[in-house]
Amino acid sequence: MNKGINGSMKKQGTILLMLAMALLLIFARAETAQAETYPTVYNGKHYNRVYSYKYYTRTHPSVVKAVGTDPEKVLQYFVLCGMPRGHQAISSFNVKEYYESHKSLRKILGKGYRKYYLYYQLYGRFGDESAKAKKGIKIFSTTVCLDPGHQSRGMSAREPIGPGSGTYKAKCSSGTYGRWSRLNEYQVVIKIALKLRTELQARGYNVVMTRTRNDVRLSNIDRAQIANKNKADLMIRLHCDGQDYGSWLHGARGMAAAGGNRYLSAKTVSGGQNLARQLARCQSKATGQPMLETLYTNEMTGINWAKMPCAIIEMGYMSNPSEDLNLARSSYQETIAKGLANGVDAYIAG
Ligand SMILES: [Zn+2]
Repeated sequence: MNKGINGSMKKQGTILLMLAMALLLIFARAETAQAETYPTVYNGKHYNRVYSYKYYTRTHPSVVKAVGTDPEKVLQYFVLCGMPRGHQAISSFNVKEYYESHKSLRKILGKGYRKYYLYYQLYGRFGDESAKAKKGIKIFSTTVCLDPGHQSRGMSAREPIGPGSGTYKAKCSSGTYGRWSRLNEYQVVIKIALKLRTELQARGYNVVMTRTRNDVRLSNIDRAQIANKNKADLMIRLHCDGQDYGSWLHGARGMAAAGGNRYLSAKTVSGGQNLARQLARCQSKATGQPMLETLYTNEMTGINWAKMPCAIIEMGYMSNPSEDLNLARSSYQETIAKGLANGVDAYIAG
C-alpha cells in the first residue's frame, strides 16, 4: 500500500516536471519568435557585432546548401569556417573601430558595418586589420554592365563593327526564337538579365543595364557606349543561340574577342576571354548543361566598341526542345543567373 502511494506520487512528480519543462520550452520559443533573434554566441564569445544570421544566409546560399538552416549550425560554420574564401571570423575583431580607423575605405564601401566586415574578411588578415585598398576596390566598386541582347524590333541600318572600321554590320539583329516555347530571344534574355542583376547586387556589385524593357531602339554601338559611359569594369552580353541544322545541339558557350584585335588592348582581350570562359564554365556547372568550346572573334560590334573586358554568353539553344523549354522557366533562369554570378566572382577572384 505504502509502496503504491509512493509510486503514484513519483508518477505525479514526473508528470509535473514534464509539464514544467514543456511550459519552459514553449516560453523560450515564444520569446525567440517575438524578438526574432538568432544565436550569436559561440563557445562563450559574442559575434553579434559582426554576424547576422539573416544577412549571412541570404548572402551565402552555398553555406545554407551545405549546413542547412539550423541557426546554431550556421553560426558554428560562420565561426569555424568563415567566408567561403577561407578567412576565419575572429571575435576580437571590432568592426566599429575598424570602420572609424579606415576612413579611406569610405569612398569604396560607403556606410554600414557589414561591408566593412566582409571586406576585412576578404582582404584583411588574421589579427592584421590593415586592409589592402587596391584589392578591395576589385569587389566593392566593380561595376558590371549587363546587356540583354536584341530588342522587340531589329535595326537593319548598318554601323561600323569597330572604331574607325570600314566593315559594317546591322545595328541590331532580331535574334533567334524558341521553336517550342514560342518566345523570342529578347524576351528570354531580359528575364535572365534582371535575375542576374538582383543576384549580383546581393553580392555587392554595382550593376548597369543597357535595357530593362523590350521596346527600345539600341544599336550594338549604343550598348557598348552605355557600358563605357558608366565606366563599367566588365560587360556581359546575354544571348541565346539557335540553329536550323537539327535540334540536337545544346549547351552554354562563351564568346569574346580574339587575339590581335585591332580595336582593343591585349589586356582587355584576355580579360574578355577569361570572363567568357568563367561564365560558361560556372553556368554549365550550375545547370548541368555542357560547356561548349569558347569562340573568339573580332567581328562583334558590341565587343569591339566596349572599352572593358566584354563577353557574350550564349546561354542555350532555343532550337533544342528541352533547352528551349528550360530557358523559358523562371526557376531555370534563376539557376543560370546564380551560375553566371559565380562566373563573375570567379573572374574577379582571378
Ligand atoms: Zn542573340
